[in-house]
Amino acid sequence: MIGTSTIAGQYMTDAIRAQAGAEVTWALSTSASRAQSFADAQGIARSSDNLAEVLADPKVDAVYISSINDRHYAQAMAAIAAGKHVLCEKPLATDIDQAIDMVRAADQAGVTFATNHHMRCAGSHRAIRDVIQSGQIGRVLSLRLFHAVELPAHLRGWRLDNPAAGGGVIADLTVHNADTARFLLGEDPHSIVAQSCESGFGQGVEDSAMSIWSMHSGAMVFSHESFTHPYAGAGIEVHGSKGSLFAKGVFAQDPGGSITLNTAEGEEEISFDHHSLYGEVIRDFTACVATGNAPSATGWDGVKSMIIADTVKKAAQTGTVQSPDFRGAP
Ligand code: NDP
Repeated sequence: MIGTSTIAGQYMTDAIRAQAGAEVTWALSTSASRAQSFADAQGIARSSDNLAEVLADPKVDAVYISSINDRHYAQAMAAIAAGKHVLCEKPLATDIDQAIDMVRAADQAGVTFATNHHMRCAGSHRAIRDVIQSGQIGRVLSLRLFHAVELPAHLRGWRLDNPAAGGGVIADLTVHNADTARFLLGEDPHSIVAQSCESGFGQGVEDSAMSIWSMHSGAMVFSHESFTHPYAGAGIEVHGSKGSLFAKGVFAQDPGGSITLNTAEGEEEISFDHHSLYGEVIRDFTACVATGNAPSATGWDGVKSMIIADTVKKAAQTGTVQSPDFRGAP
């Protein structure tokens, strides 16, 4: 565990341990005492503030990186150089060139590199995609992504006041929306307009954003993210020429929510699997390490979600239409 983060403690340690044969062997922090406290709290045998020491352990097959965003790059590059497989948190870095370097380095080293875009592993998101792909809603005309939530009190730190560390709702949540749109529709946007603001929590960084994206198929995407909306309820709507999907409560860390399909036949509840999202991320990652297959969210998916979020930011800052430059990312 590289990073004594909230998500590592709340979800990922247990998710890794749930895999047969997997063991969490080290806790790494930039502070030796924080590493020790985290290891004690999580029942992890060893802790360190020295990444080289952890990476020198031959028992370490893979690292999970969930430090603050501006540390991901150096930590991932060191892990890749040591031949370790990497599951890295989103956003992969604070700089797109660095994210591309990480993914290319992993390719060259022949190690698995995955991005923790866990929404792809939700039964709900997979069910929405299945309905779209089945043709039941016809041609997709528009996708509305509602990801306006209230940032929990214990997370109101660097996200709200430190743009250099990767703060701001666009770096934090627009990347998830970008990956969700790409996962559901199987395509990328070609142009984006946006606005953002500080609506109560942000201090020098945006805490709310709305953007509209045109996709290559002609579909439009509306993406709303915020840290300041306690009662908005997160969800997804997909509107097609033959039907509409209404998914409530599906932008979450735990499996839940509901999906309703509206067509000429009437209203139908869509059932879906309620497995653990992060458990599925780790199951998929572990399988890909074993087989060499591509993980559900690859490094390039992480690069593309960063590029789309960066384009949203530029569109909001300039008040102009912006086109993402995917720089040859597959
Ligand atoms: P936190 O803010 O909880 O922790 C981030 C870092 O802050 C830790 O790695 C730690 O550094 C440092 N830190 C923790 N406690 C203290 C303290 N008391 N004093 C000083 N520093 C401290 O991170 P999050 O869990 O919110 O996010 C971590 C990463 O995971 C981010 O990249 C985020 O974008 C991502 N994330 C992804 C989610 C997903 O669903 N995919 C969900 C939530 C977050 P050190 O490691 O050096 O000890």
